Amino acid sequence: MTEPDQSRFAEPDHSRFAAGAAYIDGRYMPVAEAAIPLTDWGYRRSDVTYDVVGVWDGAFFRLDDHIRRFRASMDGLHMKPAESDDEIKAVLHKIVRLSGLRAAYVAMDCLRGVPAPGKPRHPAYARNYIAAFAVPWVSVASPEMCERGLHLMIADTLRIPPESVEPRYKNFHWGDLTRGQFEAMDKGADFAILLDAQGNVTEGAGFNVFSITDGVVATPDRGALDGITRLSMIELCEELGIPCEVRPVPAAELRDADEIFTCTTAGGVMPASRIDGRIMGNDRPGPISMRLRDAFWAKRAEGWHATPVDYEGKD
Ligand code: PLP
Repeated sequence: MTEPDQSRFAEPDHSRFAAGAAYIDGRYMPVAEAAIPLTDWGYRRSDVTYDVVGVWDGAFFRLDDHIRRFRASMDGLHMKPAESDDEIKAVLHKIVRLSGLRAAYVAMDCLRGVPAPGKPRHPAYARNYIAAFAVPWVSVASPEMCERGLHLMIADTLRIPPESVEPRYKNFHWGDLTRGQFEAMDKGADFAILLDAQGNVTEGAGFNVFSITDGVVATPDRGALDGITRLSMIELCEELGIPCEVRPVPAAELRDADEIFTCTTAGGVMPASRIDGRIMGNDRPGPISMRLRDAFWAKRAEGWHATPVDYEGKD
């Protein structure tokens, strides 16, 4: 990955939004002033669905795919905010415009809200609303980790099953992922990968996982978010003629893999060099992972799935 372009477009009130811009339920504000009510079930019950789209070189990556997934998450969780998909897109353009950022992490949340007074205390009676913010680009892994390859471990903590909380609806139920992060820290690893109750790989704290054995790439078919970067990897494999299978990936296959890489909006493609203390290859990112990573960034530089940010908008 190249370094993010931190330059900005000039804005009259640029300094107010230098740290980022936010939108909550119809209003815009500097990100530091954005706050949600303490009583909101979005906070008290983690009753939120969200999505995160990246802006790179002044353009959103796969904006329509993120909006489609966000809407599917909201529908799946019985949430109906006032904004249409086009209105949400306009909000995202505006917060990036206000921030002036050319490389940004752009989050959109739909919060449950609280049932109106006098209504039953059931989520169906809450008014759902949208909050969003754009801040400077962030990456899950540091440049040093990406350079040497991530040190991964398989956690004892299991991923919450889809029968309880569907991970395809991006959500704030991060208790299992957070616990996994502490397991990784205790073992001296960078990141944990969580299994399901059947012993198959799911995902990690904010990223999808790919395992590579004998030249064949594999990624789990359930128990994880259908990542947009993961989708890009599946498409790239097809384009480059690299066999890619979407199916259950047993823990043993990952432990013995020739290569592993993780991927996410906040960082792109992040190859690993160790799993559970075992060194893969020459303790550096493997060749197929690097080929995919390089192809990903080369295509991004060419404008692949890019929607230029409307920096000139007048509203
Ligand atoms: N899995 C989880 C739990 C995530 O939170 C994320 C992104 O934040 C991903 C996977 C990767 O998804 P995407 O590539 O759409 O960013």
